[in-house]
Amino acid sequence: MGEKVGVLALQGDVREHAAALAELGAHPVEVRTPQDLSGVDALILPGGESTTMSLLLGSSGLFDPIAARLAEGMPAFGTCAGMILLATDVLDGRPDQRSFAVLDIAVRRNAFGRQVDSFETGLDVAGVVGGPVDAVFIRAPFVERAGDGVEVLAEVDGHPVLVRQGPLMAAAFHPELSDDLRVHHLFLGGL
Ligand code: GLN
Repeated sequence: MGEKVGVLALQGDVREHAAALAELGAHPVEVRTPQDLSGVDALILPGGESTTMSLLLGSSGLFDPIAARLAEGMPAFGTCAGMILLATDVLDGRPDQRSFAVLDIAVRRNAFGRQVDSFETGLDVAGVVGGPVDAVFIRAPFVERAGDGVEVLAEVDGHPVLVRQGPLMAAAFHPELSDDLRVHHLFLGGL
């Protein structure tokens, strides 16, 4: 490992992702400017609020450079709001909300409903050994449609919550909020 892995640091769970990466031997880089982005090998888009991040991606000047790197094949991992930012189709989004539209999924925001706004569960993840992964869901989305090229790695009640398409991975939950680093490890293993 030892790759420089950017964490989009406009809003959301930045420190927790950086800590997980460092613990696994990668070099986390907080990405706030296009210059920060140019030095990284891969990018994590954290959880937070996708509508706010969409606005901040515009005002920071990061939207177009990130879109260009993704088009070149930069590996990226979106968690929760980050999953929404990577999706080709956003359901229940705000009309002005933008996404990078590189991961061929339709994702519904806040899909688990208000009554279960937050929950924690053990997830069986394809390719991860050692028992269920501890997964924290906070006003989480889920995937309603996954394109042919998309592998579903984990589901909750039949809804995909962890997917991979080539160098792109996306989780509806927050792997950075538990001590279980196996999902980050899975992403880093693909770099
Ligand atoms: N519901 C949030 C959104 O639409 C995502 C929640 C999260 O990242 N924890 O952006």
